[in-house]
Amino acid sequence: MKIRTRVIHAGLAPPAQGEPFSAGVTFAGTYHASGETSASPYTYGRYHNPTWTQFERALSELEGSIAISFASGMAAVAAVFGTTLRADDVLVMPSDCYYTARLLADGLFAEIGVQVRKAPTAGDGLNQLLDGAKLLWLETPANPGLDVCDIASLVHAAHKKDVLVAVDNTTPTVLGQSPLELGADFSIASDTKVLTGHSDLILGHVAVRDSARAEKLLSWRTQIGAVPGPMEVWLAHRSLATLEMRLERQCRNALTIAEYLMTRSDVTGLRYPGLPNDSSHEIATRQMRYYGSIISFVLAHRACAEQFLQSCKLIIEATSFGGVHTTAERRARWGGDEIPEGFIRLSVGCEDSQDIVDDIAQALAAM
Ligand code: PLP
Repeated sequence: MKIRTRVIHAGLAPPAQGEPFSAGVTFAGTYHASGETSASPYTYGRYHNPTWTQFERALSELEGSIAISFASGMAAVAAVFGTTLRADDVLVMPSDCYYTARLLADGLFAEIGVQVRKAPTAGDGLNQLLDGAKLLWLETPANPGLDVCDIASLVHAAHKKDVLVAVDNTTPTVLGQSPLELGADFSIASDTKVLTGHSDLILGHVAVRDSARAEKLLSWRTQIGAVPGPMEVWLAHRSLATLEMRLERQCRNALTIAEYLMTRSDVTGLRYPGLPNDSSHEIATRQMRYYGSIISFVLAHRACAEQFLQSCKLIIEATSFGGVHTTAERRARWGGDEIPEGFIRLSVGCEDSQDIVDDIAQALAAM
């Protein structure tokens, strides 16, 4: 079955007369569970929940692996760091990956004795740092700079040196890129973004092929308590059915908008992996099914970027990305990324592309 069919049916229970296609959300802190704890499929809400079971079945079908849902993307990142890294281990990670993942590595994990080495996503820097490492962390395309790296080739190099590889697959989603198929040991994502796409929840997941690794992640989730809310998980499963349609439209829109931005002399530093002249294009074409919904570009200086955002009428000034509504922000307002003050991260939504282009045009004119 094609992936666009699978994504619609993923995780549905087998047909049963009079039952809904997809069961409703189960809110439960505790369950009837007499006798031995193993005698009941569900006992206590921090261990398991039928709504998680269905959603995780869906994610597992799509990832081709065992998927575990977490309370947030950062809970998923922390679960991989926490189950693999110990004092004196070396973590290699991109210097341009999601800022909070770097904060966690440089903060808590460095404090407990993990050595953190960093190099940019683009180029050969990550490969050069692998000697003696325990875990290679990748994020491709990287947020917000949109550089990409060759997952299969880095996995090959890392595995030769007994280094585990985890890929933060948030920006493309499992539909856009399959890190496990490319050899990675962990595929993680913030499902807050494109996967769920409606800007109304926080969620994450980790997918692994190895059942021992899955057990460790499950124990981590139970003991740390980084459990997802059943309502969020149910909403996420509901949103999954439209993922392909949303992503397809968002990526088509993103290409149209990137092509428009190319024509503007007041825009520099334009990045979109789908543009044939983008430095990420060749690798992205090889390893991604979609080029993603994020574009980045630079306006002359901070005041220009602020004026641009204030002048947008359709595009919403907001952080995060991947939703059906087009949003944009001056990313440097957060700090932590090596980007110019006028750097704009544009998350392209599902609106008519002409309306988005018109809004950008009038906001640039107002600048
Ligand atoms: N990974 C990437 C690439 C992200 O962009 C984010 C959030 O922006 C995260 C992980 C963390 O996800 P969450 O906000 O769901 O914890």
